[in-house]
Amino acid sequence: MAIGVKVVSRPIDEVSYVRATLGGMKRTLRHVFEEKVTTQYPEEKESISKRWRGTHRMHTTEDGKAKCVGCGLCPSVCPANCIKLVTGEDEQGNRYPLVFEIDEFRCIFCGYCQEVCPEEAIHLGRHYENAEYSREGFVYDLERLMAQTHPVCEMWDPADPKGE
Ligand code: SF4
Ligand code: SF4
Repeated sequence: MAIGVKVVSRPIDEVSYVRATLGGMKRTLRHVFEEKVTTQYPEEKESISKRWRGTHRMHTTEDGKAKCVGCGLCPSVCPANCIKLVTGEDEQGNRYPLVFEIDEFRCIFCGYCQEVCPEEAIHLGRHYENAEYSREGFVYDLERLMAQTHPVCEMWDPADPKGE
């Protein structure tokens, strides 16, 4: 049986390297003259959403104590199991946190702790610059949580679904 050879013509319009190169150069040149969108971080910083859920903050009372009453709700609800709480009790029977730690490295920033807190003590913060050189550095104790000053997260509000 004779073997036939089918000659397929090259679709020059579709496979031309010159055309593709010129197209690429045109696109590159267009970007050269477009407005630049690069942010020169950390000198420049973009504003972040008021709903940003970042590094926690512990709010304090007027006399400088943590607002936490050691109810235990936030460690119970935390899906990442990253809140450590040991409570104490004063002479009047008021509970307070002896140990309160959040491992920001394990935290998934779900916001449940803020939502569940009956005292509005623990909040997520509009803050993200918490890089550390060790894992231990991500464990924020009570003193460190109270020392945070960044704005707190405004959680999703069903009455204002778009956050306007
Ligand atoms: S934001 Fe979520 S994961 Fe993080 S500490 Fe709070 S409850 Fe736990
Ligand atoms: S939910 Fe609030 S009051 Fe209760 S243990 Fe957590 S931070 Fe403290």
